Amino acid sequence: MTIIPNSMEGRDIAYQMHPNVNLRKYEKTGGVVIESGDGIYVFDNNGKRYIEGLAGLWSVAVGFGEKRLVEVARAQMEKLPYYHTFAYKTHGPSIELAEMLIQMAPVPMSKVHFTSSGSEANDLACKMVWYRSNALGNKDKKKVIGRIKGYHGVTIAAGSITGLPRNHESFDLPLDRMVHTSCPSYVHFGQENESEADFTTRMLTDLEDLIIREGPETVAAFWGEPVMGAGGVLMPPEGYWEGVQKILRKYDILLVVDEVICGFGRTGNMFACQTYGIEPDVLILSKQISSSYMPLSAILMNDRFYQPIADESDRIGVFGHGFTASGHPVATAVGLENLKIIQERDLVGNAARLEEQFLSRLAELAKHPVAHSSRGVGLLGALEIKPFDDAKAGDAALTVTAALEKEGVIARAVGEAICFCPPLIITSEQIDDMFDALERALDAVAAARA
Ligand code: PMP
Repeated sequence: MTIIPNSMEGRDIAYQMHPNVNLRKYEKTGGVVIESGDGIYVFDNNGKRYIEGLAGLWSVAVGFGEKRLVEVARAQMEKLPYYHTFAYKTHGPSIELAEMLIQMAPVPMSKVHFTSSGSEANDLACKMVWYRSNALGNKDKKKVIGRIKGYHGVTIAAGSITGLPRNHESFDLPLDRMVHTSCPSYVHFGQENESEADFTTRMLTDLEDLIIREGPETVAAFWGEPVMGAGGVLMPPEGYWEGVQKILRKYDILLVVDEVICGFGRTGNMFACQTYGIEPDVLILSKQISSSYMPLSAILMNDRFYQPIADESDRIGVFGHGFTASGHPVATAVGLENLKIIQERDLVGNAARLEEQFLSRLAELAKHPVAHSSRGVGLLGALEIKPFDDAKAGDAALTVTAALEKEGVIARAVGEAICFCPPLIITSEQIDDMFDALERALDAVAAARA
């Protein structure tokens, strides 16, 4: 396809450097210009309609074009478009959202601190872990354990806790305080003749061995997503979270749970901590907190985490951290209204009710000759594709997602998996539309290779 220089696509190539692309390839191919959205759909500048099978970036819970959020943002912009939360000032939207989050939290939490992205929230939570260790006089207890294939963002600390080579290579990451334990995905890392229970035991042994090798007195925190998202929708094996928490308690290691994707209904419960029985010290939230209509994230922390930090700020004279946009009034007002919509429309219940259909359709499609297996929880799922046997044929999952895009569905290929995470407002009929299109895409790929 030739790209006309003064078209939107041509100007995009000329001026914008995009995240998460091969920059040289982008210079040649450009991107699809998405122009508008409505419900579960987005439309490109040629008027083509797509089901947003990933809810943008796993985030637009209430769908595109929710007028209540537009109205709340407009009203807040008129009343107080900006104010900060520094220097002993505060404002209504941040107070109300903080109160609501503490009331909703899956375990007793003490305080909320606002940031604007998942990366910022994880990065700051990591700084707070270090600050807290210093406050307690544990100057050597600073190491953080992440997991291979875990994703917590791309800033320096968060990117270091992330366990994906592409986010480390040539960025000089990870920092040497960050170590990574095994990825608990049974389908990917289970050994031949190893039962799921044995696999869980091996994952837990790996974790405990790592802690002992590093020295428990040097390990401050463990970081994990209940279900790994960007790593490819990787499910925790039976008994994993229970076992992890036992080990962390044994060695006095904090548990930071990153529910940036899972939070606010994705797994069929308000929080995945409820789905998997997890009791975090720190809970990281973003994405569906505002359906991504405004950049917003939140760090929820329990008293055991907060109190030493407050003491340390008192000793120093100030908690020396904060962003211009911390608790931004328009973002927090939109977040508050978005959570009210999630509750009033029972979108968490919608995810729970549609889970069976969503997962069983994926499981049916896993029988397709091109496919390997399926997995998921709530409205978060993946179809694993069989790799093409000849390297020249390219990447199998990318080939299927390209065919799927032709069929009018946007999904995300990660490794050999095609990930689905549709808006929580999706209906039963729309799930069928989405997976009917996937079936046509799988057929097209199979036919092209026959
Ligand atoms: N944590 C998780 C679990 C995520 O999925 C993401 C984003 N996909 C992040 C953190 C980083 O969020 P952001 O892109 O807003 O920095």
